[in-house]
Amino acid sequence: MKHVDGSMIDTNPTVSAEMAEELRQVIGPRSVLPQAALSTHTTFKVGGPADWLCLPETVSQLRDILSWINKVGTPWIVLGNGSNILFSDDGFRGVVIKIRGARPVDHTLWHLSHSGVQVRVGAGVGLARVASYCAEAGLTGMEWATGIPGVVGGAVRGNAGAHGWEMGDVINELEVLTSAGMLETLQRDSLSFRYRHSGLASDLLITGATLSLTEDDPSIIRRRIQEYTEQRKNTQPSADQSAGCMFKNPAGESAGRLIDIAGCKGVAVGGAMVSPLHGNFIVNRGGATSKDTLSLIDSIREKVRMETGVELELEVRVVGSI
Ligand SMILES: Cc1cc2nc3c(=O)[nH]c(=O)nc-3n(C[C@H](O)[C@H](O)[C@H](O)COP(=O)(O)OP(=O)(O)OC[C@H]3O[C@@H](n4cnc5c(N)ncnc54)[C@H](O)[C@@H]3O)c2cc1C
Repeated sequence: MKHVDGSMIDTNPTVSAEMAEELRQVIGPRSVLPQAALSTHTTFKVGGPADWLCLPETVSQLRDILSWINKVGTPWIVLGNGSNILFSDDGFRGVVIKIRGARPVDHTLWHLSHSGVQVRVGAGVGLARVASYCAEAGLTGMEWATGIPGVVGGAVRGNAGAHGWEMGDVINELEVLTSAGMLETLQRDSLSFRYRHSGLASDLLITGATLSLTEDDPSIIRRRIQEYTEQRKNTQPSADQSAGCMFKNPAGESAGRLIDIAGCKGVAVGGAMVSPLHGNFIVNRGGATSKDTLSLIDSIREKVRMETGVELELEVRVVGSI
């Protein structure tokens, strides 16, 4: 088995329809799709086909998928809402496991409930949903996540954050599945979150989390959500197709400001363009390819290096041969 970030053991990138049929029998034919266009599963709308796309609904199905992957030996990657990832135009040779639900459902990977100030949430629940649920319950600590189009699993993996908050601030416990199929609970003190980094081993699948929040007046929480939403609308190209901020902010600096100084706003390669509104967003203005995007990224980095001496580091994960 080969995880894209892990070491290689008996990798077999080509999984035949017969091999996939075995898995379809176990988790259902609608949950195992061949040749799925990754452009339709990412907010940037770029990416060729995945050999197989698996859509588990429960931890048990996720376990079945991992056990089958271990048997057939193929590269795999887990996806949330695809809002911080750039796939190659050639797609992904292997299995993409997508964990995302449209709305909360008990006993699935997108459950959502609370007891007192502790919120239990599945990896596939959207951040905006979590924020509004917490507001209704009179729990503060997730308002910042309202405008971030990811789900909990992706947000935990990259320690997403905004408005001075980040995911690591509210995590009390994490539920993860190892690539060998073992379900484990990780306590807060064993986690090492830092800026856009969770410290989790790359082959761990996040299945859910318990968040520790604080009681507050629902109307005050809702007002904060409104303020953050308004702020985002005025400063980010939220309505455009993008993968969010392309680069991490260097310590004490803003990547967007450096890109602006380097004169890159509005610069384009093919369908990929640096947003005129926010320099750290590359938007797909129609027909962008991964090649266009990578070429634009190289050019931004070069210009920022020349102009400011700073080496920008990618925040977005790039997957596949480009
Ligand atoms: C308009 C816009 C605004 C944004 N604003 C912000 C912002 O303010 N702050 C911010 O931090 N980000 C922001 N982002 C980026 C992005 O939305 C966040 O990083 C988000 O948390 C990614 O979640 P996702 O579910 O889309 O993850 P994906 O893009 O699907 O995946 C991201 C990474 O997480 C891994 N992953 C996904 N699910 C799991 C899982 N269950 N277990 C283990 N690993 C997993 C993937 O393999 C990948 O490495 C923005 C993006 C857009 C498009």
